[in-house]
Amino acid sequence: PAERVQSTTPSIWVEFTTLAAECKAVNLGQGFPDTPMPKFVAEKLKEVASHPERTDMHQYTRGYGNPKLVSVLGKLYSKLYGIPIDANNQIIVTVGAYLSLYYAFLGWIDHGDEVIIMEPAYDCYSPQVKLAGGKAVPVVMPLKERATSSADYRLDVDAIRKAITSKTKMLVLNNPHNPTGKLFSRAELEAVAAIANEHDLIVIADEVYEWHVYEGKEMIRFASLPGMFDRTISIGSAGKAFSVTGWKLGWAIGPDHLLAPMKAVHQNCVFTCSTPTQHAVAEAMEDELKIMEEQPEKSYLMKGLSSELVSKRDRLAAMVREAGMTPIVPESGYFMMAGFKGYHGPFETDSSPDPLDFRFVRWLCREKKLATIPPSAFYSPQFKKANEEMVRLCFFKSDDTLSKAELRFEMDT
Ligand code: PMP
Ligand code: GLN
Repeated sequence: PAERVQSTTPSIWVEFTTLAAECKAVNLGQGFPDTPMPKFVAEKLKEVASHPERTDMHQYTRGYGNPKLVSVLGKLYSKLYGIPIDANNQIIVTVGAYLSLYYAFLGWIDHGDEVIIMEPAYDCYSPQVKLAGGKAVPVVMPLKERATSSADYRLDVDAIRKAITSKTKMLVLNNPHNPTGKLFSRAELEAVAAIANEHDLIVIADEVYEWHVYEGKEMIRFASLPGMFDRTISIGSAGKAFSVTGWKLGWAIGPDHLLAPMKAVHQNCVFTCSTPTQHAVAEAMEDELKIMEEQPEKSYLMKGLSSELVSKRDRLAAMVREAGMTPIVPESGYFMMAGFKGYHGPFETDSSPDPLDFRFVRWLCREKKLATIPPSAFYSPQFKKANEEMVRLCFFKSDDTLSKAELRFEMDT
């Protein structure tokens, strides 16, 4: 195999999604809703399927994004950023947010370039940076003692400053944050903006969970901060927005000069994404945009989604507490971190060299038939040991799944 893939190991999704299926476990692991997708979105795809004669719905569409889709995304994000977006030049539609991220690294990172990544971090960032030839530079977000909320993960501005070198080109900001559920405050985002300005950095704002925000908290999009649009590649996902993760439809938004290298990769790599889902997402987003303007209380994105999720979050937090674990209640996203310190079992003494959370999660899945994710996977090797006593749980699950999970939590260890 090529040198660039030789150090690649199987990702947690490869191992733990397979294990969950093998064990027929109740699945609070990989992040996907097991509830029905929103009906108004399903109707749009039905409509597309009922027109086999429409070439604009079923044949190749415009390479950088279906015209209807980029047009509505342009309108939506112009409002959200408070900046007029040129839909034909400043948006690119990709196969999921994953590919937008990869294009950003491939398009901008040269051999030896450094990318600051705050850890814990979504696990594909570092491998993607490495594939692009760059160096991922981790900066840990410390968790306060006796933490109870995702806000207790602190942005360490001094550590970021210390990590910057003459080779630093980019910083990845994931807000809302996976796996912690942290929602960055305005002051924190302004601190990142100041650093980006000072060191002339490109910011990758992975904002795929932008609509999953609880209790009236404010989602501040990085590109909306003064001067930041020009140095930011913002990344979104229809899979997350409309709770259809299997549609794998994402996008990147940014100024022409930042998107140009990404387009250079895309035109020879994928060229154009699947048309029917782009069409359906465009129509659903057009409806949403209208509802947001006229009756925001009826909007799925502004209201429906978070009110459905907040009760699930609270239910899971109560279950986790009842089981003797310590939940870190998230302000956003659909994941919850929970500490399992104090749990004892055969996982502590098994022969695996892996961090304790990997061994706990495998045991939980095999013996208790409950699938979760080990968060040390979201840290670089040197930080795993200090972060091996938690699990990540997904709470975008039906009441039935949560009830089954509740039974599994009653562990007799
Ligand atoms: N970024 C984050 C933080 C995520 O959690 C995910 C989860 N899938 C992605 C990117 C990728 O999204 P997509 O499924 O649209 O590729
Ligand atoms: N983003 C989702 C998660 O964090 C799904 C990951 C995946 O399937 N690669 O669980």
